Amino acid sequence: MPNFVPRLFLQSRTSLPQFRFNYLKRDSMMETNIPRHATKIVATLGPASNTVELIEKMIRAKVSVVRLNFSHGTAQDHIDRAMMVREAARRAGREVAIMADLQGPKIRVGKFAEGKVFLEPGAKFVLDGERTELGDVSAVGLDYKELPQDVKAGDVLLLNDGLIMLTVDKVVGEAVHTTVNLGGELSNNKGINKKGGGLTAPALTAKDMEDIKTAMSFQADYVAVSFPQNATDMEMARQLCNVAAAEFKHKPGMIAKIERAEAIPHLESILKASDGIMVARGDLAVEVGNAAVPALQKRMIKMARAMDKFAITATQMMESMISAPMPTRAEVSDVANAVLDGTDAVMLSAETASGKYPLETVQEMSRICEAAEKAEHVELDGGFTTKSTTRIDQTIAMGALFTAHHLGAKAIVALTDSGSTPLWMSRHRIDVPIYALTPRIATQRKMAIYRNVRPLLVATITDRDSALTQAEKYLKKRGIVKTGDVYAITCGEPMGAPGGTNMLKICRVG
Ligand code: PGA
Ligand code: MN
Repeated sequence: MPNFVPRLFLQSRTSLPQFRFNYLKRDSMMETNIPRHATKIVATLGPASNTVELIEKMIRAKVSVVRLNFSHGTAQDHIDRAMMVREAARRAGREVAIMADLQGPKIRVGKFAEGKVFLEPGAKFVLDGERTELGDVSAVGLDYKELPQDVKAGDVLLLNDGLIMLTVDKVVGEAVHTTVNLGGELSNNKGINKKGGGLTAPALTAKDMEDIKTAMSFQADYVAVSFPQNATDMEMARQLCNVAAAEFKHKPGMIAKIERAEAIPHLESILKASDGIMVARGDLAVEVGNAAVPALQKRMIKMARAMDKFAITATQMMESMISAPMPTRAEVSDVANAVLDGTDAVMLSAETASGKYPLETVQEMSRICEAAEKAEHVELDGGFTTKSTTRIDQTIAMGALFTAHHLGAKAIVALTDSGSTPLWMSRHRIDVPIYALTPRIATQRKMAIYRNVRPLLVATITDRDSALTQAEKYLKKRGIVKTGDVYAITCGEPMGAPGGTNMLKICRVG
């Protein structure tokens, strides 16, 4: 693999304190609120969700992944939030994953003297890379100085999530001269997208690299990369994360946010280089057009699952709940349809970060997920019969699905070190919940995002027979299985070696 780590990245040490969160006593948690639904909920934290008490309630309301949005706030804000999340999870009795979402090269206009201007349709407006004074109704500065090189006459620029549309008349030096097509209010630091894509900004900015160090100081479980164009962007981000987290022997999962038109033709290679993708409908819709997004969402989810990766559906899912206590019918349908599309997780952004009803939004979303899953009669999908593999562990995973389905098992249990077996099993639709028992807290947290996987932490056991006995005890204690129930269990022998799953046992609870 090529080396992407710049020397400066290695040399500059962050002065951030470093936290180890693995202070929990092994096996000390009784997962008292295992979600009933298989689809996971990702909630973004922000000023509206900034106390341990509220985060605990959100976790109890079935949030499985917490997103820290590095587009806002300071490094210290994120560190504080990460600590709150770990504490809240401890109190709620269920581990969650932390996703650090990097800002990426979001191109923005500068600030205005008055904070905002109103652009009239038909007016001329200049985006000026050299402008140092504050903006006004005729021109504004840019934070991305390369924009003038990336556009030409005739291009359409969309500002503020597409609410304002400008057509480029000409580019003179560093100044992009435009005519306003769709007018409206434009305020400080609003984003700029080019219709159809084609802006060349690299996916990882200097700020992202600093933010990676911050996120690794608290061992974020996932890092989401904004605006990747290709697999190389993801490989580079992964390498920087692994270097920054090496001292903790931590390796975060990498999520590619698909929000650039150019990423679409590279979807397969981006997926290969990532652990999962986010259907980032906000920026994506601006680049490819709103109407193209629903079909893309379905395609991306399908493709991710077929490639043993996960997918998150994001943005404006419950948007109206930022200010209203009830979602719209259309939002309910949107969430339900994402569930039916097979998404691993549905995501909340401003709804939980800065909205008026963070907890109510999560509760409502959880109800929608549960109802959508119930409405669908899930049979084991036939996909796995045609999937070819020569790996022992993968065929064991497929065998467990087949057996559990035909025997009407109450649960599939995977004793897992790396989490691969539960991941593979969860890529197929089945009506049987997968309980993933792992002695590794990092694996437990990572699996929190996989659809239909309920991760549980167990003590390290090296002897197979006692591991199987222990596992059944666990399931009974938690009320997952009772006398007479059948369950399937997979494990590896010798125990505790990652990637070593080579056994499938079918048990009837005695
Ligand atoms: P953002 O990404 O919220 O960081 O912009 C998601 C999206 O664009 O949909
Ligand atoms: Mn975005």
